[in-house]
Amino acid sequence: MGLVVQKYGGSSVADAEGIKRVAKRIVEAKKNGHQVVVVVSAMGDTTDELIDLAEQVSPIPSGREFDMLLTAGERISMALLAMAIKNLGHEAQSFTGSQAGVITDSVHNKARIIDVTPGRIRQSIDAGNIAIVAGFQGVSQDKKDITTLGRGGSDTTAVALAAALEAEVCEIYTDVDGVFTADPRVVKKARKIDWISFEDMLELASSGSKVLLHRCVEYARRYNIPIHVRSSFSGLRGTWVSNEPQGDQPMEQAIISGVAHDTSEAKITVVGVPDKPGEAAAIFRTISDSELNIDMVVQNVSAASTGLTDISFTLPKTDGHKAMEALTKAQPTIGFDSLRYDDQIAKISLVGAGMRTNPGVTATFFEALSNAGVNIELISTSEIRISVVTRADDVKEAVRAVHSAFGLDSDSVEAVVYGGTGR
Ligand code: ASP
Ligand code: MG
Repeated sequence: MGLVVQKYGGSSVADAEGIKRVAKRIVEAKKNGHQVVVVVSAMGDTTDELIDLAEQVSPIPSGREFDMLLTAGERISMALLAMAIKNLGHEAQSFTGSQAGVITDSVHNKARIIDVTPGRIRQSIDAGNIAIVAGFQGVSQDKKDITTLGRGGSDTTAVALAAALEAEVCEIYTDVDGVFTADPRVVKKARKIDWISFEDMLELASSGSKVLLHRCVEYARRYNIPIHVRSSFSGLRGTWVSNEPQGDQPMEQAIISGVAHDTSEAKITVVGVPDKPGEAAAIFRTISDSELNIDMVVQNVSAASTGLTDISFTLPKTDGHKAMEALTKAQPTIGFDSLRYDDQIAKISLVGAGMRTNPGVTATFFEALSNAGVNIELISTSEIRISVVTRADDVKEAVRAVHSAFGLDSDSVEAVVYGGTGR
């Protein structure tokens, strides 16, 4: 039997009981003959608490110290987990990201993994230990500073280690039974997906589905590491994410994989832009020069009488302030009338590779929203996704309506949320 990498999220190790429960599951895998490498997140809401603390001490903490602080959360859980395993009579050793060979660039708070050299992990498991690795952290290649990978980054640590160690599978243990056709916190009748392609999973992740982060799925696809998302509470078989279905996974891909929603974005409208070549370029060059990423873009038809048009785009709320500042500064050179900022929006997306060949999907989607009385403000599409922006207040209603309209509601309530705050 091969090597498995298991990752446990914060809600699975929220307290001493959780840590002991997880330790038993890990020992189980070891007893089944696997070599086991475990990646663990910080306990419960520890990371949020550390961030709150930092903000009380300094409104703009330095990236280096901020990362140093946040990585403490994972160090606590890795050491406790190793102790709990030893208490069950098995050998375990914990390692920081840096000790595990997770090498990153030096962008604090959202570092990217550039190499993984897991020599010490290999040694430890070859000697019969269970290796426990602190998730979400690494060490920068040039400055040798401690870095973090961005919120939820432990999943990426797990997949990166799985790739470097050529693991059979990367198991991601969380507080729900897998990937659902919608957020089970919003849609009670969401259905568990047995198998989903990397492609659809990537779209769901970039559309706001929080079970797996985009970066983690991207990494898994690049190295072709199958991910098994499952609950550490129930032990049920979860969702397989891979290139192709394997074993007893369903052979046919659903037309629609799911409905995702995202309330983390804001909308900026640039009002009164001269309708001539180069204007949009100047606006978005300004944004990109500030190293901000935007999501959806629409330009309205210009009113013929004024020759002015409006351009709206969405971006993460956390970047909103920076974008408004940059645009305000560039206003005299670009020459628009004013800016409007709106953070009371939500994005709802329908994802599925089957859309390519099923022309009715768009119509059904819009009908469902209109029947629910939900107004659409922006629309964007890709080959396998349709997204709309609505008022934030409408998001739950909209997700439920679309989920039902596509026949995704399950007959029974399958979606159990075992823990966590969804924070
Ligand atoms: N503890 C970090 C966070 O809460 C990393 C993780 O959970 O993956 O974002
Ligand atoms: Mg966490």
